[in-house]
Amino acid sequence: MGTVVTYLKQSYLEYNSRYFRGRLPKDCRVIYSDLSKLRYMGAHKATTKDGDRKNSKHIIWIDHKLRWSNKLVDMTLLHEMVHLKLFKKYGHEVPRGLHGPLFQKEMKRLAKVGAFNRLW
Ligand SMILES: [Zn+2]
Repeated sequence: MGTVVTYLKQSYLEYNSRYFRGRLPKDCRVIYSDLSKLRYMGAHKATTKDGDRKNSKHIIWIDHKLRWSNKLVDMTLLHEMVHLKLFKKYGHEVPRGLHGPLFQKEMKRLAKVGAFNRLW
């Protein structure tokens, strides 16, 4: 990535320290991509070596069509960061679903600490 810190990466690092106690991996790649075929606004992928979640590599993609709005970008980014956090804990098998109660609980926690205050 060189020395240029993109808006996405900068937001990721800020949110990580502000709302996740800096516990999400700092080397996560956060990039724009064309996700229209998937009909996703964002996506998160983790690759593990031998199922070793702690040393997994992470990528977050944000659909480039959201770029006109930092609010949409940031809300999508926070959504994907919650996926990342749950992955670290549960791997690919999040109990009761990817957007189930554990995901909802985490989003509500973010709302309570003000993560969405300027975004919704
Ligand atoms: Zn999701």
